[in-house]
Amino acid sequence: MSQLPIANSKLVRSHARTLIRQHRPELLRMLSLYAVAAVMALIPAWVIGEITGLATSHKLTSQRIDLYVGLLFTSSLAYAGLSFLARRRSYILGEKVFAQLREEFLASVLALPLIEVERAGTGDLLSRTTNDIEAMSRTVRFAVPEWLVALVQTILTFIAMILVSPLAAVASLVSIPFLYLSTRRYLHFATPGYMRERISYATLSGTVAETAEGARTVDAQRLASRQETRVNHNIRESFYSEMYTLLMRLIWFPIVESAFALAVAATLGWSGWLALNHHISIAAATTVTLYVVQINDPIDRIVSWLDELQIGQTSLARLVGVSAVHDDRPTEGVEPTNETITVSDVYYSYRSGHDVLRGITLTIQPGERLAIVGPTGAGKSTLGRLLAGIDAPRAGSITVGDVALSSMPLTMLRRHVALVTQEHHIFIGTVGENLALAKPEASDEEILRALDAVDAMEWVNALPDGLLSQLGTTGFQLTPAQAQQLALARLVMTDPHTLVLDEATALIDPRAARHLEHSLSAVLEGRTVIAIAHRLHTAHDADRVCVLIDGRIAELGTHEELVALHGEYASLWRSWRSEGADEV
Ligand code: ADP
Repeated sequence: MSQLPIANSKLVRSHARTLIRQHRPELLRMLSLYAVAAVMALIPAWVIGEITGLATSHKLTSQRIDLYVGLLFTSSLAYAGLSFLARRRSYILGEKVFAQLREEFLASVLALPLIEVERAGTGDLLSRTTNDIEAMSRTVRFAVPEWLVALVQTILTFIAMILVSPLAAVASLVSIPFLYLSTRRYLHFATPGYMRERISYATLSGTVAETAEGARTVDAQRLASRQETRVNHNIRESFYSEMYTLLMRLIWFPIVESAFALAVAATLGWSGWLALNHHISIAAATTVTLYVVQINDPIDRIVSWLDELQIGQTSLARLVGVSAVHDDRPTEGVEPTNETITVSDVYYSYRSGHDVLRGITLTIQPGERLAIVGPTGAGKSTLGRLLAGIDAPRAGSITVGDVALSSMPLTMLRRHVALVTQEHHIFIGTVGENLALAKPEASDEEILRALDAVDAMEWVNALPDGLLSQLGTTGFQLTPAQAQQLALARLVMTDPHTLVLDEATALIDPRAARHLEHSLSAVLEGRTVIAIAHRLHTAHDADRVCVLIDGRIAELGTHEELVALHGEYASLWRSWRSEGADEV
């Protein structure tokens, strides 16, 4: 199963740049506040340096002490207040950016072509909507603001050191090569590790979700131990990829810590020597050494948040990757001039080299009822999907009124052809909202007319709030038949001239099915209907029957013609009749 794409670093960077551009004024305000706070944090070390200088030269008076203590006190208070304000701003900004990212991601998930989702499986998408969004939230809410703050503090502290004594400050640079080289090596080795970690989580949640979703099949086919082995394998993969990144951190962290200690020792020794030889004052030596101790904290945060930023970057790449899947469907197209559907020499394969449809040619006239029959695996559902324009043929073409289905924008396509299957999803929301999905601009009257057309008015009226009643898991629970009626009412609203029915009534008990067929026939009235027939009486009632065997059309004609032919259809029909068939 192929995964959805992962954005390359160029795309991720341009996405991040756009985000920054959109929030630049807020970002600058927040950073300026942090900068002022950082300046406040620089005052104590300078004061201590001054006091030390004065004390060693015996010039310390009680007024001076009062002044310095007052300065210490005020700067600490100002630092606390400003940091609070800045932090508040950064959290608000973080939430805003995160909300925006989440909304953009949701929009791209909803815009994904159905076929891509099916190809990638739900596990990958599930992991992106959970694990990656979660990781992204930590990055945007904490890592990025903390990192930027630490960067501002580092730069300002370094500037302060230079202002106090450029000569003494030089010694602090000894840590730079160690930090730079070790961090570069770390990122080089750790980045693919983090990527592997995220992919392993996705695979694991995919396997678990698929096992849970297909629990019955797993049970029936005795696949439990196979699935267990698979889950164990996925866990092992996750474990080893986590161990790998842990090992990388285990090597890298001690190097970083040693580099800090080295910087402090070097500055203390060097500035001490300079002070003893009267190149700089004791005060300057003290202040610069204290600044080196102080700068270690933001540098430490810069490097330790790199980890989280890495994870955030890989997650962002996976989130942005979804938007890189382009729906190759055009947004504009020419409107077909008639309603005839023409299938010419269509081939289709799920895997290359294995065609499941082979050379299908067929013309369906407006208003015709065509039944497609054939053994399981013959390609009926596949042909149904192609006729509904969900997928495009590998070779050949399917057109409506001379316009290829694949070249029509989705909204236009749905006004012409729609697929009706047995899967009906009720969305959380009101009855009205569930129907308006088909046509957002529909009026209440239009919605009521559609409900009336499918015989659903009676139960909708009986709901406590009529059209405004809440449905879905948290609201009113519909029966499968009612859910199907809503799906049919949606169809009435979209009003396509051609319907492809795939086992549309198979899941419902016979009595409800009869009732539904009544609603269905109201919907089918006057439209072209292509029915994938699982019960042969549908074929019996159709204008023409198309018998599909092994991806090819074996027979095509009316029920009577095909029975008279004594071929495949005739024998299917005989065996179906002799089995006592259900209700003909
Ligand atoms: P029918 O509806 O007549 O039972 P289908 O159209 O479902 O037949 O399937 C036709 C062939 O295509 C079968 O061999 C089936 O295994 C294969 N097939 C169907 N869906 C997929 C898929 N998503 N991926 C790969 N092969 C598929």
